Amino acid sequence: MTITGALLDLVLAPVCLGCEGLIAPGDSARLVCRRCRARLRAPPAPVCPRCGAPKRMTGVDADSFTCPECREWPDALRFARSACLLEPPADRLVHQLKYRGWRALAGPLGEHMARVRWPAEAHEPAVIAAVPTTPRRQRERGYNQAQLLADSLARATARTGVPALRRTTGSRTQTALQPASRAANVAGAFAPAADVTGLHIILVDDVLTTGATAAECAAALAAAGACCVQLITFVRAFEIRGPTRQ
Ligand SMILES: [Zn+2]
Ligand SMILES: [Zn+2]
Repeated sequence: MTITGALLDLVLAPVCLGCEGLIAPGDSARLVCRRCRARLRAPPAPVCPRCGAPKRMTGVDADSFTCPECREWPDALRFARSACLLEPPADRLVHQLKYRGWRALAGPLGEHMARVRWPAEAHEPAVIAAVPTTPRRQRERGYNQAQLLADSLARATARTGVPALRRTTGSRTQTALQPASRAANVAGAFAPAADVTGLHIILVDDVLTTGATAAECAAALAAAGACCVQLITFVRAFEIRGPTRQ
């Protein structure tokens, strides 16, 4: 390598979106460094077989059969899994994808989601569908991060993507709401946008908190004849817990 080449490499060295450190020259990744990739922590076992919530984070002992996270979900939402917990650097990566315009991050994050293991009952073949965003946010942001993750996951798992859902209302963002308000906020907010009869659908979103949005999507898909729905998100958050969830 010439001196100019070496200098150029140094100047143009990619910066990691998870930690802002320089990505090592030998690292094939361009967006997330090896150290950050290694720090992405899957929800620790044992987990709820249905929703994947770590039992020690829900305060439920390992032998209990009722999980407070998923007991109010509709039957149509059969399973949920997340690639990692909402903690550094995963929280920062989601922020970069969602609010900072780093669309290309959906590539590595979707590939990470492709490694999630499902229970044996989660049958194939399955198609991939994103949780739709509101038309207003789509306009403002120029993209739907859930759709980008869904596209990436479909590529990484060789499954078909289906534009299965659309928003029927401009519900507010769920982020600022308490759990009890979240279900009401998205009630009736989704409708089928394609023929989903008999389909087994893997629904994709960036963050799972209470599951209110996914529950509403699953109910709309089941009403339109879908066979079953399972949810996958990049991260799982446990930060908001009001008195209604005790
Ligand atoms: Zn990093
Ligand atoms: Zn559960």
